[in-house]
Amino acid sequence: MAVKKHFYTATLRRAWYTNDRTKHFEFEIGDGQPFDYLPGQFISMDVIVDGREVLRSYSLASSPHHDHRFDLCLNIVPDGVVSPWLFHLKPGDQIEFTGPWGSFILREPMDPVSAFIATGTGIAPIRAMLQYAFREGGPAAASHEVWLIFGVRSEADILYREEFEQLAREHANFRFVPTLSRPGPGWRGATGYVQQQIVHHLGQKSGFHAYICGLKKMVDDVRRQLEGMGYPASALSYEKYD
Ligand SMILES: Cc1cc2nc3c(=O)[nH]c(=O)nc-3n(C[C@H](O)[C@H](O)[C@H](O)COP(=O)(O)OP(=O)(O)OC[C@H]3O[C@@H](n4cnc5c(N)ncnc54)[C@H](O)[C@@H]3O)c2cc1C
Repeated sequence: MAVKKHFYTATLRRAWYTNDRTKHFEFEIGDGQPFDYLPGQFISMDVIVDGREVLRSYSLASSPHHDHRFDLCLNIVPDGVVSPWLFHLKPGDQIEFTGPWGSFILREPMDPVSAFIATGTGIAPIRAMLQYAFREGGPAAASHEVWLIFGVRSEADILYREEFEQLAREHANFRFVPTLSRPGPGWRGATGYVQQQIVHHLGQKSGFHAYICGLKKMVDDVRRQLEGMGYPASALSYEKYD
């Protein structure tokens, strides 16, 4: 059965650089159209670039708001087709998209132990899931153990750092582990790749579910690693960006 596509138009309200390659975007759907989605889902855009029609997908980086707003978090691929075009959008510009799509979503009720593992802009759908999980009346209970292991190059690349640090201050059951592959001299936190932090923190947990998002190589490595640690494939949800 073919899924009927519904096209939405959204207007860019605000956007800013979060580091030299990444931008945070805030959009608002036009005409008060309802746009409901589940935390972790993505939208798709058909864009005509130089007369060529290309389709690209972007994860919704904010929890569903019920007020027609949503965020995106994008990395620029300098010789890419669509991401440079998106980076040049100005407030008031519009995009057309379809969605929501995808089954990389937060499981409800949440598992006793949830581990969110991301690199780079793979944090986008995970930010949506965490905002939703910990919002008032959200599904994260004090008895749940929730981990965020976030791999980036340097301290400047820790997207949404203040938000996650704030969440960790407010919820004793939320552990935020940013890990840097190229730390500066002042960094006192975790170093290396997400894989090393997984071995360190996530062994032998019962009631475990992992959510993994980023580029294919990292996602495949982490899946293999967690399966090697004894977790079944059914305990792993993932989204690959390439
Ligand atoms: C379900 C899904 C959700 C996605 N969500 C996001 C998102 O929230 N944010 C986001 O930045 N991208 C996301 N992507 C990737 C996005 O769809 C595009 O692939 C990316 O913007 C590059 O498109 P482009 O046309 O600029 O480059 P292209 O001309 O298509 O060049 C592709 C090259 O870019 C690499 N690439 C793809 N994504 C990234 C990335 N994020 N960082 C670095 N290199 C990349 C690919 O490996 C490939 O080498 C998602 C992809 C999928 C399938």
